[in-house]
Amino acid sequence: MGEPTIFEQIAAGDIPARIVYETDTVLAFLDANPLAPGHTLVVPKEAHERLRDLPDDVATDLWAAVDELTPRVEDAVDADALTVGVNDGEAAGQEVPHVHVHLVPRFDGDGGGPIHAVAGSRPDLSDEELDDIEERIET
Ligand code: AMP
Repeated sequence: MGEPTIFEQIAAGDIPARIVYETDTVLAFLDANPLAPGHTLVVPKEAHERLRDLPDDVATDLWAAVDELTPRVEDAVDADALTVGVNDGEAAGQEVPHVHVHLVPRFDGDGGGPIHAVAGSRPDLSDEELDDIEERIET
């Protein structure tokens, strides 16, 4: 077993956090470096690095918590909208190797961008390439 992740340490009570939600399997707390007031992280208590690593029951509990918390977070800070995102893997910007869902409240005119802004230059894909990708995802 490796070192416990920072989020496991929060779940164990070894590191303080502003916990806003807790079940047997899921924890949510305010991000220590918030992108907006109310920026919340929703994490499974068990450490799994990538979404693909989550056991089905843990994934179910995690997304149920996200579903429950999105309106609560948005309403708590009187936001106009919410961006929900997961940096799933290092190349996507994941810094903590323990799955976490960011709930970032958004406000009219906050100067932020949409999810579309996170990727680099857009690819120019041929129909054949799109057919191939479609088939690979389907099967
Ligand atoms: P990511 O880049 O998706 O891995 O995001 C990691 C997030 O964890 C960042 O937004 C950090 O601000 C947040 N974070 C790191 N340590 C803590 C902590 N001890 N308590 C709350 N949030 C934290």
